[in-house]
Amino acid sequence: MGVPSGEIIARPMVARACGCLQEFQHYTVDKYREQRKAKFQKTRCPVCVAKLVEEQRIAATLPKKGEAFKSLPTGAQISMVRRADNTWTGTLIADGTTVEAVGEGPQGVTLALARNWLLARGAGKATPAAATPAPAAAAKPAATAATPVKPTAVAAAPKPAPAPKAAPSKAKPV
Ligand SMILES: [Zn+2]
Repeated sequence: MGVPSGEIIARPMVARACGCLQEFQHYTVDKYREQRKAKFQKTRCPVCVAKLVEEQRIAATLPKKGEAFKSLPTGAQISMVRRADNTWTGTLIADGTTVEAVGEGPQGVTLALARNWLLARGAGKATPAAATPAPAAAAKPAATAATPVKPTAVAAAPKPAPAPKAAPSKAKPV
């Protein structure tokens, strides 16, 4: 269902959740174009996803759960948003440093956030962020600055989805 077909008739540039502009393709036959576009706008581009995943991979070499959380300062704040693609995006703010993480579940994201924060504060200096194919804007050593957070990306949540994702027909009658 919902697989677009036919020719590509337009290629507008659309901003994604990470702030990157990416080509969104309009097909002649595309019943769910609006839904696809909504999802497109709510998710990050592959480069930014890869970047976050890589950051998390590096962060995974950092302190264990207990230590990581204990190392966070008083007043540390975590917020979490569930994305249209079923992943979770978390933001941790502590001591003026803001970091982000994505993951399949909130627990993993929480830990990744704590580790990312420690990493941002220089805990992971031993790992010089292996060859990450990052765009210029992101070409910073993992251990220096916090991941910049675009407010718009986080604010995408409250808006109700334009239409519920075509419910599978086996949806339980209540
Ligand atoms: Zn991006």
